[in-house]
Amino acid sequence: TETPPPRRARAEIDLGALRANVRTLRARVAPHVRIMGVVKADAYGHGAVRCARAALDAGADWLGTATPHEALALRAAGITDVPVMCWLWTPGDPWDEGIEAGLDMSVSGLWALEEVRAAARRTGRTARVQLKADTGLGRNGCQPADWPQLVGEALRAQEEGLVRVTGLWSHFACADEPGHPSVAGQLDTFRSMLDHAEKAGVEPEVRHIANSPATLTLPETHFDLVRPGIAMYGISPSPELGTSAELGLRPVMSLKASVALVKRVPAGHGVSYGHHYVTGGETTLGLVPLGYADGVPRHASGRGPVLIGDRVRTVAGRVAMDQFVVDLEGDTPPPGTEAVLFGPGDRGEPTAEDWAVAADTIAYEIVTRIGARVPRVYV
Ligand code: PLP
Repeated sequence: TETPPPRRARAEIDLGALRANVRTLRARVAPHVRIMGVVKADAYGHGAVRCARAALDAGADWLGTATPHEALALRAAGITDVPVMCWLWTPGDPWDEGIEAGLDMSVSGLWALEEVRAAARRTGRTARVQLKADTGLGRNGCQPADWPQLVGEALRAQEEGLVRVTGLWSHFACADEPGHPSVAGQLDTFRSMLDHAEKAGVEPEVRHIANSPATLTLPETHFDLVRPGIAMYGISPSPELGTSAELGLRPVMSLKASVALVKRVPAGHGVSYGHHYVTGGETTLGLVPLGYADGVPRHASGRGPVLIGDRVRTVAGRVAMDQFVVDLEGDTPPPGTEAVLFGPGDRGEPTAEDWAVAADTIAYEIVTRIGARVPRVYV
């Protein structure tokens, strides 16, 4: 017999909203610009395979992941007819499988090119390689000073039939801060690194640098392809760019729980570990069976908002591993009443952005960290 799905909590994933967001992004870019739906980290916590399929249905042309394992999982799930790129390789990673799966494999340095070459020799197939430029992010990618050597080696491997250089690409540091001077600087550097590679003989299928904020607000950064992640999930990349609604996006994830206990307590009663909340008078407390093991940030203790009935309540005291408490101020909703931590926000419920403020982080982290113990329910 199958265990019934837990009543405790669920993350509802609105794939219709995801499709609408992809169509909104499509309308923001020129017709020739391709869209790579970024589905790394289990689609920012939303479920990679389901979201990948929905994004492709709505007009995405490519998929992107961080690790090769994430990309191979898409292929294993039967997504075999679209280009998939992955960009975070570590020595010893499965290059052979990547080549066999036809992945576009990002290369930022000579060590990776060597591993690709060896894998291409072993498999007898040509590897699809995209060279990543560090145009100023200071993270992954090849420094401008090292670029001529990387490009030269990649072209040599291409002449040997071991690789095909399919793309040249980079990533922004501050595209979510309107007017930040580093954006123009990175664009200049990207253009000159493209120019060098193309003059040396690289004929890329795609050149790309734009993440969600650049896709939404900086058309000059679109080149041949854009790589939106957070915008597909309906979340504004930054409050400085406006709310989701102002950007025409609809949040995809709603996090809901069932109130597990309601009880009356006297004045002066400490609540949760450390007694950081003490009841001011006789009151009722509601127990919400979600905690930091589920990705509810402990840092939002005393601050995180929850809609119960028609009132937004605040986490009382500390978020624990599996549960937290809210002060219901005398209300006595029956156990099992729905508690909405976040959702699109149009029914009075908080949003992931509200939780980001409460936890002093970004909404990306709020949705991405929702734990494996919370079932994703596709609606
Ligand atoms: N491209 C790369 C290389 C990334 O690492 C990410 C995510 O951080 C994205 C694109 C998508 O970024 P965003 O979610 O801001 O659209």
